Amino acid sequence: MTSEIIPETGQFVLSNVRLHASLTPGLSVAFDADGFALADIAVVDGKISSITARGRSNSPAGALDLGGRIVVPCFVDCHSHIDKGHIWPRKPNPDGTFMGALNATGADRVARWSAEDVARRMDFSLRCAYAHGTRALRTHLDSVAPQEEISWPVFETVREKWRGRIELQAACLLGIEGVRDKKWFEGLAKRVAAANGVLGVVTYMLPDLEELLDRVFAQAIKHGLDLDFHADETDDTSAISLKKIAEAALWNGFEGNILVGHCCSLARQPDLDVLDTLDKVAKAGLAVVSLPMCNLYLQDRRGDKTTPRWRGVTLLHEMKARGIPVAVASDNTRDPFYAYGDLDMLEVYRMATRILHFDHPVGDWPQAVTSTPAKVMRLDGFGTLAAGGAADFVVFRGRSWTELLSRPESDRIVVRDGRAIERQLPDYAELDDLMVR
Ligand SMILES: [Zn+2]
Repeated sequence: MTSEIIPETGQFVLSNVRLHASLTPGLSVAFDADGFALADIAVVDGKISSITARGRSNSPAGALDLGGRIVVPCFVDCHSHIDKGHIWPRKPNPDGTFMGALNATGADRVARWSAEDVARRMDFSLRCAYAHGTRALRTHLDSVAPQEEISWPVFETVREKWRGRIELQAACLLGIEGVRDKKWFEGLAKRVAAANGVLGVVTYMLPDLEELLDRVFAQAIKHGLDLDFHADETDDTSAISLKKIAEAALWNGFEGNILVGHCCSLARQPDLDVLDTLDKVAKAGLAVVSLPMCNLYLQDRRGDKTTPRWRGVTLLHEMKARGIPVAVASDNTRDPFYAYGDLDMLEVYRMATRILHFDHPVGDWPQAVTSTPAKVMRLDGFGTLAAGGAADFVVFRGRSWTELLSRPESDRIVVRDGRAIERQLPDYAELDDLMVR
């Protein structure tokens, strides 16, 4: 099966495809125990004109029989760092620890992150994401002075260039101690607002954390911005900034969307503390994204040649059971925070299934890489398959979860606006001249 089976006319019927209940809300049919049903998808003028359950009528003449292959909507990746991506060859993490990552990345940023450097690495990352089937992506942008003056204009140019292929959002990223410089932070919030961005910080358990959070919320309210936090990316059980963010959202009466990433320490805390935090997170309407690959890589890494004993991820099952919107996303790719990765959301989902047990039953976990992050990012019509929606979907070879998640599916077909896209991944050698040490 190659992409040539999809006609270039943008008009066709894919018959006998396997669709998942959690991703096709409009399809009323009996789904099997794995959540699948067989259906036909008709595409006209780049849009899905109908989705029909199999057996209700014969497939029209000329329909392409896909033999039960799984089709999912294009992915939404709500947490990435494409400004950092692919610097590993020139700036590896010396010991694989979080502090090693922070220091290496900081030094590389100061020395090397010119507009051209950032733009070329971003474009490389986006070509990977696009080829793998991603339709929308949020990146954090290191916004420690003077980098914000370089990276935000680059981002705005890249976003324009990619419009129609990948919907891009950006959130500023800085340690919350940077908010102490009130005037500078107000200027940053204004810059973020001018770029239609999202306000983001990394929270730490500082003595003045609550006051600093109030300043962040005040700027978000003033400029009408959504919020995106990095919180508690540590095994230190005294890290409770997720709870502090929820409390701040409640007492500030914040009405925008809030996404909180990582929340690793929650999984190490006593049950009663966890319940109290989850109650507040649910009440405040926070959404949480886990970054399973990066967390597995950085968390519980021991310098003494002993084996990690903890997966690093947060309590997504408990959160989802309380109605807290939960997602998984790529996070870092080939930089000191994660030596690997290619912005492939199928890989993220496969790894999440293994690390976080998104299986037996699968239930509605596929929404964690599609419709849930789309809602957090306010992207209507993204992350589901529906009549009248864009014909943006991925056709896999796998016909069941075990087939889909056992192989890399490198020959998947990505259909955008009703046409199969060119899926050539960029060659690493393209970046060689940027990687000279
Ligand atoms: Zn991150």
